[in-house]
Amino acid sequence: MALNINRPEPTLFEKSRPGRRGVRPPVYDVPRADLPQEFLRQDLPLPELAERDVVSHYVRLSRKNYGVDLGFYPLGSCTMKYNPKVNEVAARMRGFVDIHPLQPVETVQGALELMVRLQEMLAEISGFQSVTLQPSAGAHGELTGVLVIRKYLQDIGEGQRDIILIPDSAHGTNPATTSMAGLKAVEIQSDEDGNADLRSLQAVLDKYPGRIAGLMITNPNTLGLFEAHIQEICQMIHDAGGLVYGDGANLNAIMGILRPADVGIDIMHFNLHKTFSTPHGGGGPGAGPVGCVEKLAPYLPGPIPQRQEDGSLDWAMPAKSIGRIRSFWGNFGVLVRAYTYIRMHGAEGLREVSENAVLNANYLMHHVKRTYPVPYGHRTCMHEFVAQGKLPDAPDVHALDIAKRLIDLDNAHPPTIYFPLIVPEALMIEPTETESKETLDQFVADLEQIAQEARTDPELLHEAPHNAPVRRLDEVQAARRPILSYIMELQQQG
Ligand SMILES: *Cc1c(COP(=O)(O)O)cnc(C)c1O
Repeated sequence: MALNINRPEPTLFEKSRPGRRGVRPPVYDVPRADLPQEFLRQDLPLPELAERDVVSHYVRLSRKNYGVDLGFYPLGSCTMKYNPKVNEVAARMRGFVDIHPLQPVETVQGALELMVRLQEMLAEISGFQSVTLQPSAGAHGELTGVLVIRKYLQDIGEGQRDIILIPDSAHGTNPATTSMAGLKAVEIQSDEDGNADLRSLQAVLDKYPGRIAGLMITNPNTLGLFEAHIQEICQMIHDAGGLVYGDGANLNAIMGILRPADVGIDIMHFNLHKTFSTPHGGGGPGAGPVGCVEKLAPYLPGPIPQRQEDGSLDWAMPAKSIGRIRSFWGNFGVLVRAYTYIRMHGAEGLREVSENAVLNANYLMHHVKRTYPVPYGHRTCMHEFVAQGKLPDAPDVHALDIAKRLIDLDNAHPPTIYFPLIVPEALMIEPTETESKETLDQFVADLEQIAQEARTDPELLHEAPHNAPVRRLDEVQAARRPILSYIMELQQQG
């Protein structure tokens, strides 16, 4: 695959002119002081531009980008739902924006009140006893959870337990988390219905007596299927002396319908940026609060805001805490947005969100199944499903080609591809609840058109995208050595 970045012409991109300016600071009314010289970088040529040039530069760049505000974004597992603008209004309220994390606690009682209420709401939605809002993302929540499990086991004299079991359909962060926490990941196979296989689980439990620290499980799993034996699985792990970590990334399918704690999950993260509609992408921002059952609560990271006897709020460190997992108090702006979203919907509304997410996914699966293979299509899916970008009568066309061709059609962001790993040529499709029937129908029509092109003109697909600002990237280089700024690009050329 050729590296084919359409490099901008330097003359088009270089708009700086000596002496041009966009900002005139107000006349100062304090004594003049020189900037500390040691912090000034002579090697940093700041561009000199008028406001007008800066605005058109960034607006032009933004128009090359695809985002949730532009259209359908069925990126499986990522829950790219629409972010209601009321969240932004709340997050910009002066009482939330103009505070500092080091302010005395009596001056930020409102912010703590919001955090305590959000903790309580997440506890109610999930059935857990305690919640910490500290972790910055789902993967960070996973690390928190596994460290909590490890410390708990050490405390009860079971520190020799060093294995975390993980189904083969799991997200890559699950095994990564496990090894970061110093434990070993052992895989559990899936059965022919897409569930974690009970025989495979039993075999591993028998093989490692006394060594099972726990299981990480996603429910619904990344095939978009409800784990039919979830209660039995949790029971088996508990009987073997382990704990169950729930990867809560797929909570959007079950809100108000099933509380993870009720089926035997001991500790779980929430992805506020997925389920609770706060913006995400490009690595942030996010929040991955963690909820847990009572016996694990003393181990949660802190400080956690708590109600005092006199009704005021203050920070408290759980008695046997694993310590801090993050600077300050968490990604506060994200917490405000999630709180707003939950309040806006209420309990009934959240249940409706999940029902509609599942309905949309099943509607889409039903129609996509007519054209593309859907390996577990005999089951009702939850909020997402996995099809295959492989047509029997167009063997040279792959999931990657289909995804790239969708970019040309410009009605949708491509779905997740080649994940989960157990489905060859996976197209993982998650419509979310906010999309209309017309949007879903358009997506089906686009996929049908592409299937037709795959049979009649496969080259068109192999060379797609044709209309995008960049053609096919070297995906490895784009991930490992992204060129993110004009200056860096000059340095690399020079
Ligand atoms: C998104 C996701 C994660 C990781 O969450 P981040 O917030 O991206 O760190 C873990 N597991 C599953 C199933 C996910 O979809």
